[in-house]
Amino acid sequence: MSASRNEPLNSNPLATPLSNLRGVGPRIAEKLGKLGLSDVESVLYSLPLRYEDRRQIRKISQLHDHGIQVFSGKILAVGESQTARRRKKLYEVVVSDGTGQVSLKWFHYRKPFMQQRFIVGRHAVFIGEPKRFGAVREVHHPDVEFLAPNQSTSELTVTDPLSYGCYLPVYHLTEGLHQKTARKIWREAVERYAPLAFSPLPDEIRQRQGLLPLAKALQEAHWPSSETSFDELEGGTDLARRSLVFDEFFFLELGLALRRQGIELEKGFAFTVAHKYTAPLAKMLPYRLTEAQRRVLNEIKRDMMVERPMNRLLQGDVGSGKTIVALMSALIAIENNTQVALVAPTEILAEQHYLQFHPWLDKLGLRVVYLSGSTSVKDKKAILHQIAVGEVHMVVGTHAVLQQGVEFHKLGLGIIDEQHRFGVKQRAALRKKGKHPDLLVMTATPIPRSLALTVYGDLALSIIDELPPGRTPVKTLCLTDQFRQKAYKHIQSKIAKGEQAYIVYPLVEETEKSDLLAATEGFECLQKDIFPDFKLGLLHGRLRPEEKEQLMREFKSGEIQLLVSTTVIEVGIDVPNASVMMIEHAERFGLAQLHQLRGRVGRGAAESHCLLMRSERCSEVGRKRLAVMVESNDGFRIAEADLEIRGPGEVLGTKQSGMPDFRVANLLKDGRVLEEARQEAFQLVEGHKFLDNPRYDDLRLELKKRWGGRLELASLG
Ligand code: ADP
Ligand code: MG
Repeated sequence: MSASRNEPLNSNPLATPLSNLRGVGPRIAEKLGKLGLSDVESVLYSLPLRYEDRRQIRKISQLHDHGIQVFSGKILAVGESQTARRRKKLYEVVVSDGTGQVSLKWFHYRKPFMQQRFIVGRHAVFIGEPKRFGAVREVHHPDVEFLAPNQSTSELTVTDPLSYGCYLPVYHLTEGLHQKTARKIWREAVERYAPLAFSPLPDEIRQRQGLLPLAKALQEAHWPSSETSFDELEGGTDLARRSLVFDEFFFLELGLALRRQGIELEKGFAFTVAHKYTAPLAKMLPYRLTEAQRRVLNEIKRDMMVERPMNRLLQGDVGSGKTIVALMSALIAIENNTQVALVAPTEILAEQHYLQFHPWLDKLGLRVVYLSGSTSVKDKKAILHQIAVGEVHMVVGTHAVLQQGVEFHKLGLGIIDEQHRFGVKQRAALRKKGKHPDLLVMTATPIPRSLALTVYGDLALSIIDELPPGRTPVKTLCLTDQFRQKAYKHIQSKIAKGEQAYIVYPLVEETEKSDLLAATEGFECLQKDIFPDFKLGLLHGRLRPEEKEQLMREFKSGEIQLLVSTTVIEVGIDVPNASVMMIEHAERFGLAQLHQLRGRVGRGAAESHCLLMRSERCSEVGRKRLAVMVESNDGFRIAEADLEIRGPGEVLGTKQSGMPDFRVANLLKDGRVLEEARQEAFQLVEGHKFLDNPRYDDLRLELKKRWGGRLELASLG
């Protein structure tokens, strides 16, 4: 991109410092900073939390019990009294407008101040939330605006048109920033800067969707016109907000559409399926593929047979059997004389795949190698050479596979296991290891549809929605320390029956010493005092790879009966004989993570249990989250609950996924707008028109601005 094309980006009229707004000095700017607002644009996109309906001044007889309302009246009586039950003091003012009476009550007040203001006979306008208590209507702590002796209420809409006869925005505040000040600042920002806001969203799309231009949408979102329905404002479905949400989703989906198209336009491999290796492998398996596994394998095959590079997400709950589908797909690529790379997020998982594949591929006369950060320099050199000359058919490993210096002779298929641990960058890096190879990414994190359309919006989706037969669902219990001894007894009885167990400690960071200490101490105490007759192992991220491998081997073979571990076992570990898992400080884990962990048990025929240990002090939200785990084994349900409780940014770290943050849109609420925006964006991009058409120059610029470098839009130049 040339320097001159860069310029319009820098001259965004909204990227103006806050100090340009009247009334914003260093003190206020600091308060706004606390709200995450750094320039005028961020102020404009910070929409009101809600609106007060001050369109009309109601008759007292017309007040209802639903939200804040405005009414006027004359003061009939004033006085201090006590609440009936708790004997707390309160100040009461009774007002009437001829149609009815309202009792206004204050529970926190300064008496002299009240006495001075509220005088029988005075007229005022009141703003508050009426509640009915039997026959009496009350309003607690209303706002009060006194009227001059001869001033009528209708004059207010003329003398103070920003507070009466309209909707009033209510903004998010921070300590020291008052609602009135906030309104003034936002008002200034909206009046002076909203008209300068411009979106290159094509007119025909805006009209088809019946949306407002950006400037108008911003104005209306802050100061809705009186015709707007209050219900729509409350529900966030008003036209102004919908227009802003659409705009935001549209550019996201346009980016995704281009990314998808960029890949589709490339010439990849058109594989043929000869069953040379897949049929013999199927014979070697101790089980038959499930219906769902066969269906997705067919979807993958069809994708691999066309020349366009595959870009597919394979989603399946923990234990649904994605690995074997990946291996079958790998064999198709190998049958066509190309190589395959499989990348997993942890050494343990990569090793496990390697160890599982190795004997099968050996029998098929194929060569698979393992490559990780801890492969010795000498071994690595030899392995890299074999990969480069094409002696190796399949490489299984960690991030190390993606590094520079790993060159393939002819990479036909890249597979990423547990995609949620990787980002868009890693996907792109794997793709670059070959000449438009097919790509299969797998995840056990079930993603609500709205998230799938955003984070993985450029991928085709295959879902394994069936578990292999013969599994008994895991029973989950949430326990406090009171039940700890019982829990240990349960584990003892399981191990005595020849089954195995995990005890998991949280480890937020591999580098957190205190967490590691907790796991180590826990291990020592368990071995000495609780399970002296069993063999325990301690697995954590600081161990050397050989040590980890050794431990896993001993656990798999049953030599170790109880594995004490940090979350390194979270993904993918497969030991069907393990039937109980105890998780310490369960409240410190994310739901998706707990679900993953729990997926390590219930893999065999034995009845399995997951014991979530929580502290007595666990917060309300924490308890709610754990309750979801107890109630449900359905990864999809858990993911949605997680999304509701924690929000999308937390659920799939936005940075990690390469997604921009949403300023207005809300993935939970705005799913329908998302679908519409997606359809329009994909339609626009279809049939190459978009990339070469100078008409869309500013659309492309806008995309760059919004996505920055995150999109890897090679095709945008
Ligand atoms: P995930 O989808 O979580 O990666 P895995 O691929 O690790 O699951 O499979 C979980 C377990 O199920 C493994 O022990 C695997 O051998 C077994 N498995 C896979 N497919 C089947 C099947 N069709 N029938 C029986 N067991 C299967
Ligand atoms: Mg797996």
